[in-house]
Amino acid sequence: MSAIYDRVALIGLGLIASSMAHAMRRAGLAAEITGFARSAETRAAAREVGFCDRVCDTAAEAVSGADLIVLCVPVGAMGVVAAEIAPALKSGATVSDVGSVKRAVIEAVAPHLPDNVHFVPAHPLAGTEHSGPRSGFAELFDNRWCLIVPVEGADRGAVDRVARLWQGMGALTDEMEADHHDLVLAVTSHAPHLIAYTMVGVADDLRRVTDSEVIKYSAAGFRDFTRIAASDPTMWRDVFLTNREATLEILGRFTEELFALQRAIRTGDGDMLFDYFTRTRAIRRGIIEAGQDTDAPDFGRVKKG
Ligand code: NAP
Repeated sequence: MSAIYDRVALIGLGLIASSMAHAMRRAGLAAEITGFARSAETRAAAREVGFCDRVCDTAAEAVSGADLIVLCVPVGAMGVVAAEIAPALKSGATVSDVGSVKRAVIEAVAPHLPDNVHFVPAHPLAGTEHSGPRSGFAELFDNRWCLIVPVEGADRGAVDRVARLWQGMGALTDEMEADHHDLVLAVTSHAPHLIAYTMVGVADDLRRVTDSEVIKYSAAGFRDFTRIAASDPTMWRDVFLTNREATLEILGRFTEELFALQRAIRTGDGDMLFDYFTRTRAIRRGIIEAGQDTDAPDFGRVKKG
């Protein structure tokens, strides 16, 4: 594939930025990739791994002359970073981001951008519980969705070009309106993370009572929660603070369902439980049929020994 952008600048050099750089290189999508992270430690690690052509010591230097600038920092930091890079942006450049929440990012970033720059927000629905510049890999976005969230009056050419970049990195792309994105993600990602954090928190409290047996004998259900609950604390704090309304709406519905199931258990309503679990099992089948997860037992984990 030929290059889609001449120079791409990545601001923030963690899991998503490093995976983007690896994936862009795999397909030759950018002639040059520059990068910047706020800490000297992350910049040094990024230089060592070598996924950027140049890791710069200032954000201004990284974005200067860039055709595409992708903000890969936590959602709560997007506005400050946008303000910092704005004076150094090239006329005609496109600014994008990978934030997990879209309305708040648009409101925080758009006011800082000059009129001669395009803004094309995006969100790759791919990640792991690892973070930092050493955690990225080229295959992260393969066959995963990346939602492009065009702002009002967006330039079609700039939007399509960002979509083509994500397709080149292996992703499937779709367009979505910002508020709708935030509601959908509250159901599919944000509320599930909060529930996982809660369940692991409860187990942690119980550990004291059960003499660490919840850790020693951790069964599949709990282990899967712990993987999700190991996700980056800064990223997830920002997600809940910035997607507050949608997350609270979904958690309200979740609480009602939980009460209904609690009641079925208390009253011995086996039919209700059976029907409920039959319905939810079909959702898993749908996800597998859509190619978004493996059908292998235990999520395809390889047994040791
Ligand atoms: P990460 O691995 O933790 O990397 C975050 C980067 O942002 C680091 O380079 C960090 O710099 C920088 N940073 C943190 N706080 C900052 C601040 N206040 N000001 C400026 N820079 C700051 O995170 P990530 O997983 O790549 O996530 C980046 C973005 O992608 C987030 O907006 C997240 O919502 C979104 N996202 C994440 C996932 C996922 O599963 N991880 C999936 C889709 C989208 P230092 O290292 O120098 O501190």
